[in-house]
Amino acid sequence: MIELRDIHRTYRIGESSVHALRGVSLTIGQGEFIAIMGASGSGKSTLMHILGMLDKPDSGEYRLLGRDVRNLPEDELATLRNNVAGFVFQQFHLLKRMSLVDNVRLPHIYSGERGDCRAGAMERLTMVGLGERAMNTPNQLSGGQQQRVAIARALVRDPMIVFADEPTGNLDSHTSAEIMRILQELHREGRTIIMVTHEQDIAAYAERVITMSDGKIVRDERTPAAEHRTPVAQAAPDIASSVSGWGNGRFAGFVTQALQSIMANKVRSFLSVLGILVGVASVIAMMALGRGAQVSMEEQLTSLGSNLLSVRGGSSTFRGAAQGAGSVTRFTFRDVERIAALKGQVSHAAGVVSGSAQLVYGSANWSTTLEGVGMDYGIMRSMLPDVGRWFTDAELKRREKVAIVGVSVVKELFGTGVNPVGKTIRINRINFTIIGIAPAKGFTGHRDADDVVLIPVTTAMYRVLGKDYLDRIYVEASAPSVIDRAIEEIDRVIRRAHRLDEDDESFSIRDMTEIQEMLSSTTRTMSMLLGSIAAISLLVGGIGIMNIMLVSVTERTREIGLRKAIGAREGDIMLQFLVEAVGMTLTGGLIGILAGIGVAWGLSVFAGWSVQTSLYSVLLATGFSVLTGLCFGLWPAKKAAALKPVEALRYE
Ligand code: ADP
Ligand code: MG
Repeated sequence: MIELRDIHRTYRIGESSVHALRGVSLTIGQGEFIAIMGASGSGKSTLMHILGMLDKPDSGEYRLLGRDVRNLPEDELATLRNNVAGFVFQQFHLLKRMSLVDNVRLPHIYSGERGDCRAGAMERLTMVGLGERAMNTPNQLSGGQQQRVAIARALVRDPMIVFADEPTGNLDSHTSAEIMRILQELHREGRTIIMVTHEQDIAAYAERVITMSDGKIVRDERTPAAEHRTPVAQAAPDIASSVSGWGNGRFAGFVTQALQSIMANKVRSFLSVLGILVGVASVIAMMALGRGAQVSMEEQLTSLGSNLLSVRGGSSTFRGAAQGAGSVTRFTFRDVERIAALKGQVSHAAGVVSGSAQLVYGSANWSTTLEGVGMDYGIMRSMLPDVGRWFTDAELKRREKVAIVGVSVVKELFGTGVNPVGKTIRINRINFTIIGIAPAKGFTGHRDADDVVLIPVTTAMYRVLGKDYLDRIYVEASAPSVIDRAIEEIDRVIRRAHRLDEDDESFSIRDMTEIQEMLSSTTRTMSMLLGSIAAISLLVGGIGIMNIMLVSVTERTREIGLRKAIGAREGDIMLQFLVEAVGMTLTGGLIGILAGIGVAWGLSVFAGWSVQTSLYSVLLATGFSVLTGLCFGLWPAKKAAALKPVEALRYE
C-alpha cells in the first residue's frame, strides 16, 4: 500500500544542515501495525511526517496505493490527508475553546461532505469511552482522556491509516496501556497503524518494529504479537475524492469560530476595533451634518429667492467687524426707481421697512414682525399668496390698510378652521383688512418665517411706523451671471444720487450668493475635516486590526498546523482568518454606526444643528468596515495559510 524508495530529507538552518533521513526505503502493507523505534533525533518523526504527507522528501519516491504523491500540490495533499489519514500527536493538539464533540468533528468540516457529523463524532467519542463528556472542553479532561479525544478525532473520517507520533509520550503507564488497547482494537478492525515510540513495551503492542538510527532503518522485524492475527481486508477508499462546497456548514463553522475567538478576547478585540469605531462614527456624523446643512441651506435659499441682492444703509458688517462707522445713507422710493431702471442687470426691485406690530382680533392678541413691502417683493421672495391675493398698485399708491398674514399669525389669531381672508384685524390699533395668507416657509435658521404680517410699504411708512425712508431695498438680478455687474451698477447709481465718495461706507450691497458660498464653504470645510478624521481613523483602525490578526495568527500557529494536518486547505485557513477580521471590523463598524447616529442626534438636540442621517451613509459605513477587514486581514490570513503543517505543529 505504501512504498518508499531511497527517501532523503535534509533540514537547513542558515549555513548548517541536518541530514535527518539518509536513504530510507520501506514497504508497508494494508492492515499492518508498525512501531517505529530509535533514539531521539534518529529521524522517526521526520519519516512519519513524510509518510503522513505533512512533509515532502527532498528526493526519493513515495507511492500511496500506487499513486505518486511526491509532487502533488499542497491542497491536494490536504484533501488526501483528510480522506486517508488520521493523526494522533504526543501533545494531543485539541482546540481549547471547543467542546469535545466539536473537536472530534473538526476534520469533517474540511471534507466537503454534507451534514454536521455530530452523530459520527458522538459515536467515536463513545467508542473511546467519553460519550458523556461530549460538551466538556479539553482542559476539563486528564491527559489520557485528551489523547482519547484525539484518537476519536483521528477516526472521524474513517481513515485507512492512523499515524501516531509518541501517542503515550505524555502519559503515565496505566493510561498508556489504555491508549494502546484502543490502537490495538483499531488494528483488529483492519486499519493500518503507524506509530512512533521510543519505549520498548509500547512497541511490543505492534506486529512489526522498525528501528532507526541516524536517519536510516537498521532493523525491521516482526514481533510475537503478529502470530495471533489474521489480517482483515479493508476496501481501499477513493483517495482522490475531493468535494468542495459550502453545504456542510463550513462557512457557518468559520463564523462561529471567529465569534468564539473574538469573544474569548473581548477587551483586546474591542480595543483593536476602536479605530474602526471612531472612523465609522465620524463618517456617519459627517454625512448627517453635511446632508442636514445642505438641506437647511437649500431651504433658506429658496425662501430668500434667487439672485437676490439687498441694499441697506450703514456699513457692511458682513465680513465680521464693521468696516466704517457713523453716517447712514437713507433710501427713498426714488432710489428704488433708479435701481429698477437698470434694465439688463436688474429684473425687480422693492423697498422694505420693518418694525414690530401688535395684532388684535376679537379677544386674541399677538405681537409679530411687520414688513412694509413694495410691489415686486411678492414675486422676488415667492410670497404671492395661495389663499387670497397680493396687493394692487392702486392699494400701494393710496396707502390702503390691507394686510397679508403668515400662517403662524393665522393660527395665533384665528385658530384652525377659520378663513381669515376678508376679516378685519387691528395692527397697532389701526383696522386692516386681510386680503391673503402668505405661503408657508417654515423655520429659516432660528426664526419662524411664517410669524409675519405684510402690508404695503407706503402704508407702513406713513400710517403705522412713521418713517419717511426705506430700511432696505431688495433687488433681483436678471441672471446669476450679471450679479457682479448689477452690484457695480447699483453702487454707481446710489453714489451719484446721494453724492457719496468712492470710499464712503454709509451703505452696503449684500449678495446672497456670498452667504450661500460662505455657508457651503463652512460645510465643505467641516466635511473635509470630519472626512479626514474618518479616513485616518479607518487607516489606523485597519492597522490595529492587522496587528491583532498577526498576533492571533502567531498565537494560534499550532492550531493552524493541526487544522492543516487534518485536511484544511490554504483557502480554508485564509477564509477563517478573513472571516474573523471582517467579523471584528463589522462589529466595530456597527457600534460605530450607532455612535455616529448618537452624535448626530446629540448635535441636533443640544447644539441645534440640522442633521439628517441617511440609509446611504449607514450602508457606506458598513461597506467600509467590511472592506477594511478584508484589506487589512488579508496579509495575516495569507501568512496563516502559507504556514507549513509540520513547522506550525512544532511551534512553541
Ligand atoms: P526523532 O523524532 O527521531 O526524535 P526527528 O525526526 O524529529 O527525530 O529529527 C531528526 C533530526 O532532524 C534531528 O537531528 C532534529 O534535530 C532534526 N530536525 C527535525 N526537525 C527539524 C527542523 N524543522 N529543522 C531543523 N532540524 C530538524
Ligand atoms: Mg520525534
